[in-house]
This record gives sequence, structure tokens and C-alpha cells, in this order.
Amino acid sequence: MDKYIIALDQGTTSSRAILFNKKAESVAVKQKEFTQIYPKPGWVEHDPNEILRTQFEVLDELLRENAVKAEQIEAIGITNQRETIVVWDKHTGKPIYNAIVWQDARTSKACQTIRKDLELSNYINDQTGLVVDSYFSATKIQWILNQTDEDKENLIFGTIDTWLLWNLTKGKSHATDYSNASRTMLFNIHSLEWDERLIDYFGVAKEMLPEVKNSSDVFGYYELDDIQIPITGIAGDQQAALFGQGCFEKGQAKNTYGTGCFMLMNTGEIPKSSKKGLLTTIAWGIHGKVNYALEGSVFIAGAAIQWLRDELQIIEKAEDSEKMIAEVSTDEIYVVPAFVGLGAPHWDEDARGTVFGLTRDAGKNHLVKGTVNSLAFQARDIFDLMEKESGIELKELAVDGGASQNNYLMQFQADILNKDIVKPLNHETTALGAAFLAGLHTGFWTKEDLVALKQQGRTFTPQMPADVREEKYKRWKKAVNLSKGWLS
Ligand code: ADP
Repeated sequence: MDKYIIALDQGTTSSRAILFNKKAESVAVKQKEFTQIYPKPGWVEHDPNEILRTQFEVLDELLRENAVKAEQIEAIGITNQRETIVVWDKHTGKPIYNAIVWQDARTSKACQTIRKDLELSNYINDQTGLVVDSYFSATKIQWILNQTDEDKENLIFGTIDTWLLWNLTKGKSHATDYSNASRTMLFNIHSLEWDERLIDYFGVAKEMLPEVKNSSDVFGYYELDDIQIPITGIAGDQQAALFGQGCFEKGQAKNTYGTGCFMLMNTGEIPKSSKKGLLTTIAWGIHGKVNYALEGSVFIAGAAIQWLRDELQIIEKAEDSEKMIAEVSTDEIYVVPAFVGLGAPHWDEDARGTVFGLTRDAGKNHLVKGTVNSLAFQARDIFDLMEKESGIELKELAVDGGASQNNYLMQFQADILNKDIVKPLNHETTALGAAFLAGLHTGFWTKEDLVALKQQGRTFTPQMPADVREEKYKRWKKAVNLSKGWLS
């Protein structure tokens, strides 16, 4: 009887369950979207019970439709939207408020106040590896606790992995892994413990906090047909993708081209700190050893392609962009999609989107090309910063996410970075990372197996002459500089 690993991929818009065989192929996938709740401008919530319902439904359907029996499941791995939190009553299992989602900015004022306290803000920087921002969990938990008069003794908190785990194990396991803990702004990434000063500052009782474990470890058991299926892998989505991409060694990096871009670089066993707003985070913990990563994000990446489609309506589908670009031979147009300001390394909230280089013959194809190119230029901004701040020279970049399907973009990325771009055969890198972590613990795969299972789909090698590359990048930097400060 074939054995499988199941990955539960609890994302921001959908819950998925994926079945992986021994060859690490995704044999079947089930997916269900759930409701996005926007109670006020800038607020984003999910119903924790809807998350559970959709997650259990996709799991059930995956097993039923593929006639997989409980005894065929070697283990379960979980990967999840990061930073989103739930606070619930440990006796009834009822959440006391909706899940506050990572995108939610209701606590930005509280974060501004903290940032004014330089000593505290530097402390947070140094000890958690994060910048003080409403994006992370701490102020969200504080906000929920401030709303309730419930006795804190009855309450526990968790990121989404913890919420799923607690429910999969019927309340037996209240735990998380290092990668998720490192996104809460409550976890000390050096001592590998909840930070006493921060849990105190944010008013979180120690008893509310989940136990933090290795990412590949026994987290608990899911009972199905009288069989106890072990849950042996947990990692936040971006770290899981880094693992699923096989970036196990220091100096390996991946970039995910989704709505935004997330670049993560494995920096080995020593955390590297950044002065320019890259985050220092825990990639994973295995056998008691923690691997750190540097993380940089671009706010608007695939979202710029959505803008071409939905607002400008000059493309019908994101995929059309590639055909349209093939009609254009020059790169005269530069689009800076600073729709919400600019992040690392520019950090300018007052920047806004701009188009440079328009000439009389410029048409929609040129604009599409300029927009697609902006994904590659923004990735180079982060990439250069990452190499500089880590002191590590990257050999190549592994890629995934929706826009990595655009072969023109991947070739242009190789050209602009002057590095090989490696696309995996299996696009399910996030889920695969969770499956790898789970299978590694049970011995379904060894570390050597995981290295051997890395299936390279296609490599894009740089072809652009150095002077052409640097001329283009110089123009990009000029365009970015001219976009800055528009609102100021
Ligand atoms: P997310 O996980 O953030 O929802 P996905 O990884 O599913 O994102 O990728 C979707 C994004 O990729 C969308 O913003 C879409 O515009 C972009 N995208 C998808 N296919 C292409 C393509 N062929 N060329 C350029 N962009 C694309």
C-alpha cells in the first residue's frame, strides 16, 4: 500500500490540502476559499471557525476522492499564513474574537508610539529581528486582550498553525514552531524563548503562549478511523517555501512572485541583522538546531499586473503579458509601481507610482513590458541589499509563485541580476516544504533524499552584456528616485 504525506496549507484566502507521494509529487490537491472580513478601512479579519471548517473539508475530500485510508498517511505537515492570530477560551475552544490577519493595520498607531521609544524599538529590533509594525502579531494580541474582560487564565493564543494544531488534536497540543514564533514580535530569536520583557509589555500572560518546538518534530496526533496520525511538520508559509525549494544551506535563497514578492535567504546558524529594514527571522529548527534567514519584501509585484488587468484593462489575463511583451523590442518605458509607497531599501511612504520614458509611439505593450520589468528591478534592489547586509554572495535564485510562470520575466530577472534563476518542477513549494519537514521527522525521507528530490524545472542563465544590464539598472534607480516624496 502506498504511503503519503499530507500538507495542510492554510493561506490568506484559501485552505488547501495536498497529497504527496514518496517521490515528492503532489498527487492531488483540494482547495476552498473563505470569507475576507473588512469591518473598517484597514481592518482585515477571518472567522477562525470558517478556517477550521474549510481546512477539515478539504482534508476529508482529499482522502475520500483519492480513496486514501488513515493507515496510508505517514504524517501531516502544516504551513500557514504568518502573523495572523487567534485568541480562544481553552475550556470551550471558542475564539473570543475573529482572527486578526497579518494585513490588518488597526494597531499602526500603537506601533508608532512604540517606534518613538527608541530604546524599546531597538530592543525589539535586536531581540526579535523584526521592525516594529502592525503586520506582526504582538500588537494584535494586545488589541484583542484590551477588548475583553475575560479572565486571562481561561485564554490561550496562537498563530494559525497553533489554532489548527489545537483543533486537530482536540485540544491536546498547544504548540507552534520556531518559524511562526519568530513572526510574533514576542519571541527572542537568540535565546529561543518567549521574551519576558515583551510579553510583559504587551500584556500577554505566560500561560497563554504556545510551546515552541522544532519545525520538524512531533506536535501531536490527528485521530482518524481509530488511527493516530502524527503531525510532524510546521512552518510559516515563506519559510516552508524556502525549505520546499531545497534551500537547506547557508547562502541559498528563493523569491516568491505573488501579489507581492518575498525573498528569503538562508544565512545559516548565525542571525544576520540588517540596518536597512530587512528582517531577521528563523527559517526553521531541526534536531534542536536553528537556521536563520534574512527576509525582504516588495509590496507590489504581481499586484502591478493585476493593475494592468483590472484598472487599466489593457490585458485580459496575467498570462497575456508575455505575448504582448514579445511584440516590443526596446525597454524605453520604466514603471515604478510605488502604489503604496516604497519598501526596502528605499523606505519612502510618500512615493507614488510613476511612468517614465513615454514617447509618441509608446503603446500598451510598452507599458506592459515596463510593468513586468519592474518586478525584476525591485527584486534586484532587495537582492543587492541582501548580499550586502549578509556578506554572502548568492550563486543563484530559486523562484516560485504565480508570476514566475512568466518566462520572459524570469529571463529578464536572470539578466538584471546576472545570476541563474532556477524554477522548480513542482510549483507547490510551500506545501512541499511542510511535507518535507513532516516526512523528515518520521524517516519517510532522509536529508539526503530531500537534496536528491530537488527537481529542477528550468534554469534561466544571464545573457545580457554587463554594460547593457548596468545601464538599465541605472535608469531604474533614477526612476525610483524621481518617484520618491511625491506626497511630501
Ligand atoms: P498570491 O499567493 O499572492 O495570491 P500567486 O502566487 O497565486 O499570488 O500569484 C498571483 C499573482 O501573480 C497575481 O498578482 C498575478 O497578477 C501574477 N501573475 C500570474 N501569472 C502571471 C504571468 N504569467 N505573468 C505575470 N504575472 C502573473
